[in-house]
Amino acid sequence: MNAVRPAASPATFPAPPKRFGDRELIYLAEAIRSGNLFHTRPDGFVARATQKLCEITNAPYAAAMSSGSAAVHVAVGALEIEPGAEVVTTPITDMGSVIGILYQNAIPVFADVDPHTYNLTPASIAAAITPHTRAVLAVHLAGSPCRIDAIADLCREKKLALIEDCAQAWGATYQGRHVGTFGDIGCFSFNHTKHLSCGDGGMIVTRDARLAERSRNFSDKFYDRQGKGVRMHDLAPNYRMSELQAAVALAQLEKLSSVAEPRRELGDRLTRSLIRAAIPGVIPHGVLPDATCSYWFYMLRLDPARADASRDDVVAAFIRAGVNARDGYIPRPLYRERVFQEKRFFPNNCWPAEQVAGRAYDFKTTHTPIAAEVLATSIVLPLHEGLRPSDVDRYVQILSHAMAR
Ligand SMILES: *Cc1c(COP(=O)(O)O)cnc(C)c1O
Repeated sequence: MNAVRPAASPATFPAPPKRFGDRELIYLAEAIRSGNLFHTRPDGFVARATQKLCEITNAPYAAAMSSGSAAVHVAVGALEIEPGAEVVTTPITDMGSVIGILYQNAIPVFADVDPHTYNLTPASIAAAITPHTRAVLAVHLAGSPCRIDAIADLCREKKLALIEDCAQAWGATYQGRHVGTFGDIGCFSFNHTKHLSCGDGGMIVTRDARLAERSRNFSDKFYDRQGKGVRMHDLAPNYRMSELQAAVALAQLEKLSSVAEPRRELGDRLTRSLIRAAIPGVIPHGVLPDATCSYWFYMLRLDPARADASRDDVVAAFIRAGVNARDGYIPRPLYRERVFQEKRFFPNNCWPAEQVAGRAYDFKTTHTPIAAEVLATSIVLPLHEGLRPSDVDRYVQILSHAMAR
């Protein structure tokens, strides 16, 4: 027999830990035994899970819905953003950030981002404000908080509503406060890919009792279940969360710190190691000094003018080493997608928003050079609570090897 030496197997990286366990099963059984899976039970899981989010965020009110996209739609609806109004947001985000804006026939206006945190900045928002702007939707991308205090100040000054999209920012804080509590409404997602999952689900938090009530009603066909009898004051979708989703969501919320804290430590460790390694052209994922980041992913950048390897080569080196790296979080700024370029929001390219506004919008002329540069030069590295410190140290080794050739 020929002694063929097997190729050195790449160091194996731990898989993400199992997300669901006994606590989820116990709560699910309790929900089933209750004989009622509807969200209105005062002692039910929707009530308990939203209460838990209030405890976590220190917000007085929370409401549950069927997804993070639904949560953003509910925020736009609850804030009574009228058709034709402009909402300033970021082009580096999930489609879920803008679906609700478009369905309410408001107009997303894409502002540029910071080259390190990849988030909107007070200055980039200010540059996008027009007399038609009614709201700002700030996304805390990958769990790295925006400069949200200054953004909130700007919104107050300009009399704009502020929605925080925290779908990727479970456990992230700014100046010691959980994100989502600086603006009018904060939105969260429990989809399968997020820090916390109940399969699908969403929640909002707010400090305003009226917005809380409007949010509950806007996710429940505007049936006012707290008033006397069922009244429909406004048009609203059915985005209710069921007790089954909420049972799992509660169990997940109870372990948020065991998900967010290891991620924060691992991500910050990776940044420190990258700074120490000082590999030419490698730019770590930026986190503001007053913030903690819960790293939904870790996205570093390569400065092509200074880096000694191409992005493709570096991604390939990670993949050879068993790390599921990929280039950029999304392939292009959101408005470059066909749905925006051709304004295919409604059949026959009819967009009532423009008719109501009496203004034409053309996403072909939207220009966010920093966002485009970020997406063209970034590498996403997986980061999860199952990794060990030695694993992120290996990331740095892989990177410096790939760059040394
Ligand atoms: C995931 C996500 C959403 C949408 O959440 P779903 O639960 O998938 O609808 C919205 N905004 C951002 C930034 C997201 O990452």
